[in-house]
Amino acid sequence: MQENRSLTRRGFFGRALTGVAMTAGALAFGRRAAAQSKAPKQAVQYQKEPKVQNGQTQRCDNCRFWIPVEQTDHDMGGCQVVAGKIAPEAWCNLWSGQG
Ligand code: SF4
Repeated sequence: MQENRSLTRRGFFGRALTGVAMTAGALAFGRRAAAQSKAPKQAVQYQKEPKVQNGQTQRCDNCRFWIPVEQTDHDMGGCQVVAGKIAPEAWCNLWSGQG
């Protein structure tokens, strides 16, 4: 009986570790899939300068898709819909105001 309990415990921890490994794998896959589903800069006319339109200055750091540098894993900002490092003063044709 003692042996059976030990096996059960081992089985439980084995399954728990497998679950943790699968969750970590799923999260990594999700991050990769999210990064791959973003538009490449060249497809959205990304430019390093802001765009002024109708007296309004449009730039990444006043766009609804902006990700501040503090929330990225690199030294620049990011974007929810465009791939790569994004400069705060840049612009692309997906720019959308904070609404
Ligand atoms: S959608 Fe375009 S303008 Fe807006 S943050 Fe992303 S790259 Fe910048």
